[in-house]
Amino acid sequence: MVHLASIPTNKDIGKPLVEGMEKLKVAEQSDQDQFTTSVYGSRFASEDLPKHEMPETEMPKEVAYRMIKDDLSLDGNPMLNLASFVTTYMEKEVEDLMTESFSKNFIDYEEYPQSADIQNRCVSMIGRLFNAPLDGDMAPVGTSTVGSSEAIMLAVLAMKKKWKNARQAAGKPTDRPNIVMSSAVQVCWEKAARYFEVEEKYVYCTENRYVIDPEETVSLVDENTIGICVILGTTYTGQYEDAKAVNDLLIKKNIDTVIHIDAASGGFVAPFVVPELEWDFRLEKVVSINVSGHKYGLVYPGVGWVVWRAPEYLPKELVFNINYLGADQSSFTLNFSKGASQVIGQYYQLIRLGKHGYRAIMGNLTRTADYLAESLEQLGFVLMSEKNGKGLPLVAFRIDPKSNKHYDEFAIAHQLRQRSWVVPAYTMAPHTNDLKMLRVVVREDFSKSRCDQLLDDIKLCQGVLDKMDKDEIKKHNDFIRLNQSHSGRRQNVHPHYRNEKHSLQGKTGKTHAAC
Ligand SMILES: *Cc1c(COP(=O)(O)O)cnc(C)c1O
Repeated sequence: MVHLASIPTNKDIGKPLVEGMEKLKVAEQSDQDQFTTSVYGSRFASEDLPKHEMPETEMPKEVAYRMIKDDLSLDGNPMLNLASFVTTYMEKEVEDLMTESFSKNFIDYEEYPQSADIQNRCVSMIGRLFNAPLDGDMAPVGTSTVGSSEAIMLAVLAMKKKWKNARQAAGKPTDRPNIVMSSAVQVCWEKAARYFEVEEKYVYCTENRYVIDPEETVSLVDENTIGICVILGTTYTGQYEDAKAVNDLLIKKNIDTVIHIDAASGGFVAPFVVPELEWDFRLEKVVSINVSGHKYGLVYPGVGWVVWRAPEYLPKELVFNINYLGADQSSFTLNFSKGASQVIGQYYQLIRLGKHGYRAIMGNLTRTADYLAESLEQLGFVLMSEKNGKGLPLVAFRIDPKSNKHYDEFAIAHQLRQRSWVVPAYTMAPHTNDLKMLRVVVREDFSKSRCDQLLDDIKLCQGVLDKMDKDEIKKHNDFIRLNQSHSGRRQNVHPHYRNEKHSLQGKTGKTHAAC
């Protein structure tokens, strides 16, 4: 055993270098078994972190912690990531609650009946928030999920099964189910359709309409349609699609199909900001709704919800009953084991904030978004999102084509990235003439003063770009594209799939960092 003392110390300074190096070697060897210096004095600090093969031997826990933490420090700062809807702030108290629940497996209803009950309380509160009819046995049913993607998969399966059962009962073929939706859908809808073999029927956006056209939507419905997806807050512009118009047209034309609302982002915004807007179970054709708890539900990533208007819309064949403590607990999920923390975090937010708390937060976010939108208009940008709570609290904008700038939205995004802001530039949904835009999602931790800092930096970037000539900007952008080492997303794509283009979004060009 060789201790710290054998590592060259100040005393060794001035001694012949060779002697110092000899000592260092001894120290290095001994370090393999013994770790007593600071993390940065250990041999691990002078080696690469293992990347391909699992190492043969252990490393001290302090070293593992520090090395991985340092590695992660090259990730962006979540607070400055204005690309994402996903929650980056929770109170200390709920962080404690969630940490204390890390070791609980949510699916183990028998062992953790309280956690299971907490999920049911959340489903009940969310169902009521969405105005589900509450008559006796017909009370809404629902489940927690890992996010809206899983929730949407489940809703699609339920619609498909219900459609299939009805078709089979009528002796009609069931081999060609389809679903009608906007071309601005989030990628999980494409996944759901392809994983579960449902034909996608798109209502395309146009150069000046970024939501579905209700008439066109309804006209695409046929006997093989399992349902229509209506988005409450599209990912691109945050606009609310007109669920009421679709609902009313279906009734007027006596068309027998159902609506699912993708309220991933809007489900916790609209009820507080525009309570009079009818988009939820108040509309009789709406049978299921999903919402991301980890977006405006204000919980860290890993929780979503899906609620059905009544049990009849969630066919029995899809539900698995697990008996715990004499009571049946039903399960309808794509996975089994998962942590209980996220569901507990959601329950905390619902009861800690209450409707008043959510209203105050969503009101502030809407005002901040309006302020940002107006300030950007003053800087000469064209606004593509709504104001006054008519859409999500986000600001989508683009350079005024009339201003004849020699740079595009991607150049602004690159400039802002250098000031640590992640503001994505992306190309709109197909059939919009490759419209480019930038988008800032206003989240809970994006205060008015942070908004002012962002505006200052946007002005600065405009100034810098105005001074650079076209060639310089191109060279600069090319350089960043080629050398994006830690933010280079392509690095994370296996070469076999690198040229995959089957996604709708992928086809239109770059949609970077918009989730
Ligand atoms: C974010 C989002 C999704 C996917 O939700 P996750 O919770 O990330 O799985 C689906 N639809 C819309 C409209 C979204 O904004």
